Amino acid sequence: MCFLDLDGFKSVNDQYGHEVGDQLLVAVSGHLKSVLRGDDTLARLGGDEFVVLLSEVGSTEECMLVLDRILQAVAAPVLVGNITVNVTCSVGVSLYPQDNVDPDTLLRHADQAMYVAKEAGKNRYQLFDPESDRVAQEHRQFLELLSQALGRDEFALFYQPKVDLFDGEIMGVEALIRWHHPQRGLLAPAEFLPHLRGHELEGAFGQWVLDAALKQVSQWADAGFSIRISTNVSAHYLLSADFCDHLAQSLALYPNVPPDFLELEIQESAEADVERTIETLQRCRQLGVHFALDDFGTGYASLNYLRRLPVETLKIDNSFIHDMLTSADDRHIVEGVIQLAAIFNRKVIAEGVETLEHGAALRALGCRYAQGFGIARPMEAAAVPDWCRHWRDDAVWRQLDPGAAGLDIQMK
Ligand code: C2E
Ligand code: CA
Ligand code: CA
Repeated sequence: MCFLDLDGFKSVNDQYGHEVGDQLLVAVSGHLKSVLRGDDTLARLGGDEFVVLLSEVGSTEECMLVLDRILQAVAAPVLVGNITVNVTCSVGVSLYPQDNVDPDTLLRHADQAMYVAKEAGKNRYQLFDPESDRVAQEHRQFLELLSQALGRDEFALFYQPKVDLFDGEIMGVEALIRWHHPQRGLLAPAEFLPHLRGHELEGAFGQWVLDAALKQVSQWADAGFSIRISTNVSAHYLLSADFCDHLAQSLALYPNVPPDFLELEIQESAEADVERTIETLQRCRQLGVHFALDDFGTGYASLNYLRRLPVETLKIDNSFIHDMLTSADDRHIVEGVIQLAAIFNRKVIAEGVETLEHGAALRALGCRYAQGFGIARPMEAAAVPDWCRHWRDDAVWRQLDPGAAGLDIQMK
């Protein structure tokens, strides 16, 4: 089943009038008929849309041969009066029984494929792919589910402390999203965030996170517990037109939270978005918030970008921290980033600090701030104030000893 739509028919109508348009349709039908066989069916659905039913097609290859002939037939110049008119067509095709559905769905699938052909540049055909359609459908359903779950308030933020390895101070907490799934239990962001990427729903989630984080800090402040917070902001949400306004509105809702208590962790932008990112960060900084560059070392950032980007902090990605005690390469990367941060006058924090030995090694290399399971796992809001009290009392960080890391590094 082929769904065929002429490319540029409207402009023929606009340019030469409907009379010429009508005659063009008649001529195109004639051209189409000439490449079809006796038991094929050609129908005009309306406007410049046609449906061709090819029967007894032996293979996909055979079908493609006919489709090439159809494209050529439609693209042939048409003489109307003394005007030569050129149009092409885009064709979407569904194959039965590979796509084993009822006739109406077969037609809808052909229509869908036709849109793909248009998107891909017109004057071409596109076969409907049941497998990729299934994936696309699941994706849509999952997004729907996420949207409902957001409405039902099934998401929560967990908080992971960031500390100063030199004096044990608690710098703040990073808010990390979780999904209390009614059937599957507590889900990590990797289970659902990737589905949101680039979708408009990502903005709704981004807003929810900002709001929930500020609300939490505000409640803590009311209870006499003062702490800074970081949230993760996806590139898509950061670069959306309303981001700064949303941020300003959220901050205004919680006047007892000083804007500089909020840090936004952003990822390195793709080359094309560098200027927009810089501009957005500059606008947001006027509100008083801070920025950190997350997962540093894994993206595209050039030194020139780094120099111009108004972020206070670089966050060394945990992939480098993980093996820094055993891999000289990784340790050199960590050292390099620490030095880079010093040169560019930025703070540097290590994430994924899983043991005290990692902490000791980082401190010895001059990395002042750290976060990771070795300090604390992400925890529910209710656990944060107690954890902070214990951290200060226990003073485990005092035990950090570069010798323990087996490193021959001078303490700075
Ligand atoms: P990230 O920003 O790099 O966050 C750090 C991730 O590493 C968190 O995973 C954290 O639980 C985990 N982690 C912390 N310490 C350690 C450690 O010592 N060892 C190891 N192996 N892992 C550690 P999580 O919470 O699953 O988040 C994964 C990613 O999802 C985050 O990576 C962030 O990119 C994204 N994410 C989380 N929450 C949000 C959010 O609210 N908004 C957006 N846009 N992204 C979020
Ligand atoms: Ca982060
Ligand atoms: Ca990371």
